[in-house]
Amino acid sequence: MPMFVDTSPPGQCIFCRLVANEIPSAKVFEDELTVAFMDIGQVTPGHVLVATQRHAATLLDTTPEEAAAVMRTAHRVARAVQAAFQPPGLTLLQANGALGGQTVAHFHLHVVPRHEGDGIALTWPRQEPPSAVLASHAERLRAAL
Ligand code: AMP
Ligand code: ZN
Repeated sequence: MPMFVDTSPPGQCIFCRLVANEIPSAKVFEDELTVAFMDIGQVTPGHVLVATQRHAATLLDTTPEEAAAVMRTAHRVARAVQAAFQPPGLTLLQANGALGGQTVAHFHLHVVPRHEGDGIALTWPRQEPPSAVLASHAERLRAAL
């Protein structure tokens, strides 16, 4: 569970204030639907956040156009990060909800340059259930799509 979660209402959250230039930031790119700026935490040099211009708390609050636009900008930013910083690896991370690891409730995607021993870790406990369980989960999803 994150230590701090900004759940301010639309227009008042940290990233809405950043979008409106009410607080300082190091922006690298903007278009109609998205904005990209340096993450203040700089987990590794070149760490960028790509956010929606409009306040949408999580992925589930974005429109399909906004979600696609954020990935389009992330693709462009990732290529720039690769050219400018030349990291041996690159991780995209997107968190939703406090239990999902989200600390700022305004939709954003991390573009993180990766290096040997950079200290970033995400535990991933594999369960490997029987194929009947996979089929059952897939059926539930097909019904929901
Ligand atoms: P997450 O935990 O995925 O919600 O990520 C939130 C990120 O926002 C963290 O990596 C913070 O370092 C970053 N952050 C918080 N405030 C600012 C700010 N004013 N400018 C840039 N990045 C910020
Ligand atoms: Zn916001």
